[in-house]
Amino acid sequence: MKLKFFSALFAVALWLIAAPLPAQDLGPQIKKFKDGIYVYVGKNLNSNCGIVVTQEGVVLIDSGHNPTDSRAIADAVKKITPLPIRFLIDTEPHPDHTTGHFVFSPPATIIAAKGAGESMLARDKADPDRNRKLAESSPEMRAAFEGYRMVLPHVEYRDRMTLNVGERTFELYYMKNVHSEADSAVWLPKERVLFSASAVVVEQFNVFRPNVNIPDILAAAKMMKALNPESVIPGHGIPGTTKIFDDSERYYALLLERVGKLAREGKSLDEIQKTVKMPEYDGWATKERYPGNIEAAYRAVQGK
Ligand SMILES: [Zn+2]
Repeated sequence: MKLKFFSALFAVALWLIAAPLPAQDLGPQIKKFKDGIYVYVGKNLNSNCGIVVTQEGVVLIDSGHNPTDSRAIADAVKKITPLPIRFLIDTEPHPDHTTGHFVFSPPATIIAAKGAGESMLARDKADPDRNRKLAESSPEMRAAFEGYRMVLPHVEYRDRMTLNVGERTFELYYMKNVHSEADSAVWLPKERVLFSASAVVVEQFNVFRPNVNIPDILAAAKMMKALNPESVIPGHGIPGTTKIFDDSERYYALLLERVGKLAREGKSLDEIQKTVKMPEYDGWATKERYPGNIEAAYRAVQGK
């Protein structure tokens, strides 16, 4: 009888240790979505980071915008669970998602779509002073860079990958030509939570690099919407629902319509860039990317 009482007490104590803290104790940037699923929401459209707790350790989705964010995420994880961070999944290889790898690895194994490591190396070569300049931006940033080294993904997958950790399943989907050289959507089918990467951004214009095009973005948005997620956590911007995809579809449909009309009238790209206005989206950020959006629409309506 006494033994039973003590084992019950022990079970309660274990539960108390394992029970997650209310999200409000984790600072204003951490939002709780479901039991064990949190998002560190970047300030001012800085990148988001998913924190997913399983019975066998933590899986991070991205590593924070800057090393100061990565340190804050590491501190939050320690408050949530004593379990280690086992895996870190990159939704894209750009430095505002991957500079913080060194904060988590080891022990974390880093997983990304094929081409991610190559992309990280190429960017570093093109802008070798980026991290030095960033570290000099404040004493906090300098401290957060302590021990920095570039850590490339340990595992790169093609097309699809399934990762099983504890009771959870993570489905990784490679999305081509939507933002970088190696974009991944991360889908938790049982929890119906989707990390949608930077394929579709929220309340801002997307960047169109030469490999990025509107038809592939729309195809990726359609694929992700068909998963029927309850929560959608974009690479940047406030997490929401599939409305994120609907808003983006509506924007591109309108842009293609307006650019297409002028292109059919034989107007040049230069003329179209000067003429086409999208006053409906005046509130969106990153307006300097707007001419690039028109160029992408011009390519799309010509089937290029
Ligand atoms: Zn990016």
